[in-house]
Amino acid sequence: MILPSHLSVRGGHLYIGEHDTVALAERFGTPLYVTSEDRVRENFRRLSGALSAHYGKVRVLYAAKANGNLAIFRTLASMGAGSDVFSAGEVALALAAGMRPELLLFNGSSKSPADLALAVEKGIRVSVDSPDELRQLDRAAGAAGRTVDIAFRVNPAIDVPTHPKIATGLATSKFGIPAEEILGTYREALAAEHVNPVGVHCHIGSQILAVEPFAREVDVLIDLAADLLDIGVDLSFIDIGGGLGIPYRRETDRAPTPEEYAGAVMPVFLEGIRDLGIEPELWVEPGRWLVADSTVLLSRVNSVKTAHKTFANVDAGFNLLIRPTMYDSYHEVVAANRADAPAVREYSIAGPICETGDVLAKDRMLPELAAGDIVAMLDAGAYGFAMSSQYNSRPRCAEVLLAGEKAALMRRAETIDDLTAPMATPPWQE
Ligand SMILES: *Cc1c(COP(=O)(O)O)cnc(C)c1O
Repeated sequence: MILPSHLSVRGGHLYIGEHDTVALAERFGTPLYVTSEDRVRENFRRLSGALSAHYGKVRVLYAAKANGNLAIFRTLASMGAGSDVFSAGEVALALAAGMRPELLLFNGSSKSPADLALAVEKGIRVSVDSPDELRQLDRAAGAAGRTVDIAFRVNPAIDVPTHPKIATGLATSKFGIPAEEILGTYREALAAEHVNPVGVHCHIGSQILAVEPFAREVDVLIDLAADLLDIGVDLSFIDIGGGLGIPYRRETDRAPTPEEYAGAVMPVFLEGIRDLGIEPELWVEPGRWLVADSTVLLSRVNSVKTAHKTFANVDAGFNLLIRPTMYDSYHEVVAANRADAPAVREYSIAGPICETGDVLAKDRMLPELAAGDIVAMLDAGAYGFAMSSQYNSRPRCAEVLLAGEKAALMRRAETIDDLTAPMATPPWQE
């Protein structure tokens, strides 16, 4: 298998950087998420560098939902990243990690009054998703005696080649304001007293393995910017969202490099703004690309069973990695303690959850597996732990962060007490 450069096989074991994953599984227990901080830094430098090579005014806003561990926020904050945030929790994490409020964009199609008040209070720009939200935000800002800088989330009606659940720029999506209504909405914002329309925002979807949809998206945004200029909007940023995909099928997927992405997007952007005579910042919101390949999910084989096919039953299920169940996603599987043994048998990797759909990987040729072996699911750093749950009353597992020779918990494993702690006894049951 073609491994990313921070993964290797030494003495039959899978390594992340200088760390033996089998030793990490022994030391910290399984299931276990293990993240390379060095890889997150390398990814950030690569993507940000590819875009900045074309234009000096690029800002990278990490899409917080991909991986919500505070240690990941700290890593990215230290590199100068801002964050695309969707909730009060994500705001709190980004600020706790040291990101300045002006480097955040508060997104979402269903913000509560408390969300809007928080954005006003902290001075965070808001990507407004409807005229209704615009009016609410204007009132909230007015009540606080403030003015809020905003963008509108534009629905570009672009079809992208990805899983339907993560295509967000379709005309039928719940996100964004339809193209035919967008100018009217900006006009309303220009007339409003306590909001200041300074940006446009778009995000066409996730895990996109072609660059052409991004170039089309930028083209749509530049056309819109021209209309906005005409009605008197002074644009300080154009936010093209995230969505760049990664090669989960490491043998066969062809994923665009950041340089190819920048090479497709930046000329359209630069020519567009030059023609308009404006110099707005370009914002991007990568989530997956920054963190997905930094992380493996380690699990231990509990038992092996041959029924209509052969199952390796492991201790991690869709409670910890729901992508295969939810999006039919593919993650490469490595037998971490037999990583150089020949692949001799087809296994499906099944979790401990009481659901037929709890299969992390289907029909993979792997070395002979036995109880006690360690199985690694690759590319688990985005929408992995972040989408985990306590389903089947299973405490969530620990997360370990690696940096050079160092390894430490960035989240302890939950205990049974963590499951029951928030529960309350209704008085009639006492
Ligand atoms: C999820 C999301 C992103 C990140 O998407 P990736 O595919 O992880 O890069 C960026 N912007 C918005 C608005 C999102 O909802």
